Amino acid sequence: MPQEMNPHDHALEQLDKAAQLMNLDPTLHKIFSKPKRVLEVSIPVEMDSGEYEVFTGYRVQHNFNRGPTKGGIRYHPAVTLDEIKALAMWMTWKCAVVNIPYGGAKGGVVCNPKQMGTKELEHLTRRFTVEIIGMIGPDSDIPAPDVYTNPQVMAWMMDTYSIVKGSRVLGVVTGKPLSAGGSHGRREATGRGTAITTLNACRHLKMNPEELRLVVQGFGNVGSVSAKILDEAGLRLIAASDSQGGVYNPRGLEVAKLVEVKAQGGSVIHYGDADRVSNEELLELETDILIPAALEHVITEENAPRIKARIVAEAANGPTTVGADAILEDRGVFVAPDILTNAGGVVVSYFEWIQGTQSFFWDEATVNEQLERIMQGLRGCAGASRRTDSGNADGRAHSGDLTGCGGHDGQRHLPLGGATLKSIPSWKTRERNTVA
Ligand code: NAD
Repeated sequence: MPQEMNPHDHALEQLDKAAQLMNLDPTLHKIFSKPKRVLEVSIPVEMDSGEYEVFTGYRVQHNFNRGPTKGGIRYHPAVTLDEIKALAMWMTWKCAVVNIPYGGAKGGVVCNPKQMGTKELEHLTRRFTVEIIGMIGPDSDIPAPDVYTNPQVMAWMMDTYSIVKGSRVLGVVTGKPLSAGGSHGRREATGRGTAITTLNACRHLKMNPEELRLVVQGFGNVGSVSAKILDEAGLRLIAASDSQGGVYNPRGLEVAKLVEVKAQGGSVIHYGDADRVSNEELLELETDILIPAALEHVITEENAPRIKARIVAEAANGPTTVGADAILEDRGVFVAPDILTNAGGVVVSYFEWIQGTQSFFWDEATVNEQLERIMQGLRGCAGASRRTDSGNADGRAHSGDLTGCGGHDGQRHLPLGGATLKSIPSWKTRERNTVA
């Protein structure tokens, strides 16, 4: 793997750049450069065949200065410790950007859930939960779904944790099914937040959504919900993909039909009435908006010169390498960064955690309204951050400043706040019980 493709190196390079720009205290810089805790576990699972497989899993807590750590659990054959360390670090920045009282964490298991039966996935999840049980808890570290994990996986995690603790502990994970203490709007929250941020970027660049083409890489939870909401806001989805490849029709794709094809357990490539494109070709299509919503490092120095989108809204974590980021900036491509664009998920996870720990549940309209308030409310956070900075004699950020959230400045970043979006359509809550 080329050096550039190591996500942890990528995350560290971003930190170095940010530290330089904000004149970060060198001690804090050193502290932020390393995860606080790293756990690697082996997970023996009896497979349907009767044979045992031993899977490798990780949980990483990057920083808990602002509160318990928070971050998803990924099941994917390409999971590495470096990837999980990078994702945990990005979670710290993300929670700070939207000013919620969490630090960053992440977990993952090296496995291919598409080749596993439901019982195998359940056994894997329950055993993994037991292996990391010393780290997780409602006041210490709260997992959530990520790539190829879903509400069912979270329900198994909560149930296993609760059995060990002897009482039901709703606050130990978020992204649970509604029937098991989940929150309305959680499944759609990351896509909804992505749509809000994308529309803000359009507004900032004075682009009319109704004239814009949209390409989505990774038509899973986040990608499909973003596409659905942006389609309802007037954008035309012209291409979408998943791990098996993509489909392209410049006249537009029917989002509902794509969702249906995926829900039937298939791939977007079975959509029909569209040309096939590879995931690589899809990124370089003529479009106004590109939403990478799959995995990290898909926009690299190699393909960045050929990206034609005017806006790249990073729904995935870390989809753009540091080298590619510089090329996009030089070419005037507006990148809405992941730590803002996809923050809607952790915001509604925070709401779910509050609801679970207080046993007081909100309706979907309240959740969506509060999510939008936070996604739109970044001007206030940035203001708080600037006030804190000016309070320091040496102009550096210090550990006591960690309660302020970062703002966004400069050409690359989004406008702060902006007019409230009135037209984000509602998206009927639907629980997923199968792995995408
Ligand atoms: P998901 O499992 O629901 O969907 C992932 C989709 O990506 C699937 O359709 C899969 O087929 C596709 N995919 C996998 N490998 C691919 C490849 N090489 N090329 C193209 N497509 C590929 O996962 P998700 O929850 O939608 O997460 C997507 C991204 O969003 C991830 O980067 C994740 O870290 C990030 N994210 C998710 C959340 C959340 O709340 N789920 C929150 C913040 C960030």
